Amino acid sequence: MSGIWQQPGPGPWAGDPQLSRGRRISEPAPAYRTEYQRDRDRIIHCSAFRRLEYKTQVFVNHEGDLFRTRLTHTLEVCQIARTISRALRLHEDLTEAICLAHDLGHTPFGHAGQDALHDCMREYGGFEHNLQSLRVVDILEERYAEFDGLNLCFETREGILKHCSIRHARDLGELGRRFIDRTQPGLEAQLANLADSIAYNSHDVDDGLRAGLLDLDQLQELELTGRLLNEVRRMHPQLESRRLVYEMVRRLIGELVADVIETSRQAIETAQPESPAAVRASDERLIRYSEAMDRQQRELKEFLFRQLYRHHRVYRMASKAGRTLRELFQALLDDVALMPPRQHARSRELEQRDGAKGRARGVADYIAGMTDRFAIDEHERLFDPRRLT
Ligand code: MG
Repeated sequence: MSGIWQQPGPGPWAGDPQLSRGRRISEPAPAYRTEYQRDRDRIIHCSAFRRLEYKTQVFVNHEGDLFRTRLTHTLEVCQIARTISRALRLHEDLTEAICLAHDLGHTPFGHAGQDALHDCMREYGGFEHNLQSLRVVDILEERYAEFDGLNLCFETREGILKHCSIRHARDLGELGRRFIDRTQPGLEAQLANLADSIAYNSHDVDDGLRAGLLDLDQLQELELTGRLLNEVRRMHPQLESRRLVYEMVRRLIGELVADVIETSRQAIETAQPESPAAVRASDERLIRYSEAMDRQQRELKEFLFRQLYRHHRVYRMASKAGRTLRELFQALLDDVALMPPRQHARSRELEQRDGAKGRARGVADYIAGMTDRFAIDEHERLFDPRRLT
């Protein structure tokens, strides 16, 4: 291992609060924290973060208490990313801030909710959860006296916006620039993206088995999980199945994490970026899987897509969830006065500025902010005449 890995603290390639492109509205520096710690703390205190507890990851919140929610998913992403961040001498506070915020813009009911809302918003500029996460931290949180949103640092906002179409990138100014110029984001943003996939691939295997929608024979057929199952069975031939599953899942996280650390360490050593600016100008992403692991994790991801996300039980729930959101959207768009007064006023304001597009955006903001149970309840309140309130 070469000398650069022995030194303490972040390397020259890491995000650096001293070199930050700053906040949209400048503020005095925090007394006891780095700027990125302040971002992390603002995210944890915001109301969109607390709502993650009641939003679907794959299984709708009321299907069972042991399944991952958006909140526990977020914590798993964060914990995986911090391990990798420290090993690669990235900025751990920035890594943490990006990971904690990465799913703030998710609708209720997971991907089914996002697809339904995107469908509803098709003629009004569409709906995309990455952009919505940014909208939450830039505009929608109303907590501070001097600004809307959380006024986060550029680097945290950059990390939250992991994908973006060129059309939207043009409206985002400096933040959208990298999608137009095709340059890279900082390493902490690159990492948050991969840590997200490590977390969901592993916990969806666990949740899918728990729900009885996947079985171990299927996982035995895949290269990655098959190898890990063999290893656990060899070491512990009598192990009961719940522990067998967990021993496999922890190895799965461990292997993916180790592969990203080793592969990225070599990439950083080869590229020797002298600053976060050099990382951004680099031709390729430096945080990545090895080719072999990338192939294996893709096989697992495709398997989960076919067997879990499209399983008829998940599909039926997703279809119901989609219908609920579409009906909510239509009713609220037809009469924005059905929304609570604050959201109603906001939608009117947006309508004055952007016409029908603005009105629809106000409705989408309201719906995207709902938890699963709030959306179900609001649907009942609007459509069931027996409900008094
Ligand atoms: Mg995620």
